[in-house]
Amino acid sequence: MSAPSAAGRNWAGNVIFRAPRFAAPTTLDALIELVGAARAVRAVGSRHTFSALADSDDLLVSVEAIPGAVTVHAERGTASVPAGLRYAEAARQLDAAGWALGAMASLPHITVAGAIATGTHGSGDAAGSLSDAVVALDILRADGELVAVHRGDDDLAGAVVALGALGVVTRVELSVEPSYRMTQVVDRGLAWDAALDDLEAVMGSADSVSLFTRWVDPERIDQVWRKTRGETAPAPLSGAHRAGEAGHPLPDGPAENCTDQTGAAGPWFERLPHFRAEFTPSHGEELQSEFFVPRDRAVEAIQAVRALGPQLQPLLYVSEIRSIRADELWLSGAYGRDTIGIHFTWRRDEPAVRALVRVIEAALAPFDARPHWGKVFTADPVALAGLYPRWADVAELRERWDPRGVFRNAQLAAWGL
Ligand SMILES: Cc1cc2nc3c(=O)[nH]c(=O)nc-3n(C[C@H](O)[C@H](O)[C@H](O)COP(=O)(O)OP(=O)(O)OC[C@H]3O[C@@H](n4cnc5c(N)ncnc54)[C@H](O)[C@@H]3O)c2cc1C
Repeated sequence: MSAPSAAGRNWAGNVIFRAPRFAAPTTLDALIELVGAARAVRAVGSRHTFSALADSDDLLVSVEAIPGAVTVHAERGTASVPAGLRYAEAARQLDAAGWALGAMASLPHITVAGAIATGTHGSGDAAGSLSDAVVALDILRADGELVAVHRGDDDLAGAVVALGALGVVTRVELSVEPSYRMTQVVDRGLAWDAALDDLEAVMGSADSVSLFTRWVDPERIDQVWRKTRGETAPAPLSGAHRAGEAGHPLPDGPAENCTDQTGAAGPWFERLPHFRAEFTPSHGEELQSEFFVPRDRAVEAIQAVRALGPQLQPLLYVSEIRSIRADELWLSGAYGRDTIGIHFTWRRDEPAVRALVRVIEAALAPFDARPHWGKVFTADPVALAGLYPRWADVAELRERWDPRGVFRNAQLAAWGL
């Protein structure tokens, strides 16, 4: 087992985690012993969330050092993945065995346990979030019991997007499919009017579609990234043109940090994420926010944000609009409704970002916009409770699994969780 060390900071550098002890045990038995003896525990993954979710009054623990490999269960179309594995490595092992995931986030740097705990997603009308691919979980509870929860068990819908509040996840079983190839292309110059006249057609024009905008050009969307299964890239969208050279979602970001956009087919895991595992994703020193609105009200919601354009620009690197299929996970942004995510990559000025996020939250309130749990938002427990129909069930589950509140912390309490 590694010696206890400082709890460290998150990826963006806006949060220094507060925890008296950090440990990265190398065996499951050592993890069980540590958790059983701790007064308070939080688990951490690759630290890509933007809040103090990993603060702990006693122990902060990572499962990344517990060895393990991906095991495919071909007969049931699933794969067991060590919880601390990053998607880049999980995808590499899956593909080597001839299998694939249906969705990935914009970056493969994050851990499986950390991503599913916050409802992390990619884009695609028919693509569920990364959390929705979970068919079973092993969770180490505060009482030292390692509990397996499976699809079909009542608790699974509350145990996947759980923000670490039920225990330490040690293994995740994901739904997988036979490996496939994809193309990726970038179109520029799509008119906002055309896109909003038929948003469904644009978001449905490929297996995964992302609209990138800085809300500067009132007429046109900056970039449309499209990822399509198979060997052949789609023609440019009507009224748009194919980007001449490889780019980055941020106007002056390094293109080599991004996955291939030439339209050449390649493996699914080298096309689904925007960013390549061996490079810094996005900008680096930044904050992020994202709000989920029902797909059938997305045009109105996007118009509400467009109207804020000039206010957003001084703090904004870029926005991204994506699509997520409805799911049944109680704390998921896509719970019970096909969803559009409206995302913001901000300059790292937290007080100013929080003030602006309040303005966005007010503009999106009529659409029951749910915040991304891993990003910056200001909603209080009353507002949050109104956005999740199963909120009371979440509380009941937490009480039942962790009656002593070992896995709670101040950040969760601030959200009423
Ligand atoms: C550059 C960048 C790009 C991003 N792109 C996307 C995107 O495309 N789509 C999207 O939806 N989000 C995106 N995010 C947000 C990111 O995916 C989420 O914040 C995700 O939760 C990060 O995973 P992590 O492994 O870093 O988890 P951490 O930040 O380390 O932890 C997140 C949560 O998971 C819990 N947790 C971690 N490990 C365990 C465990 N073993 N057991 C129980 N709980 C655990 C923690 O307690 C915490 O509550 C992005 C973030 C960055 C910085």
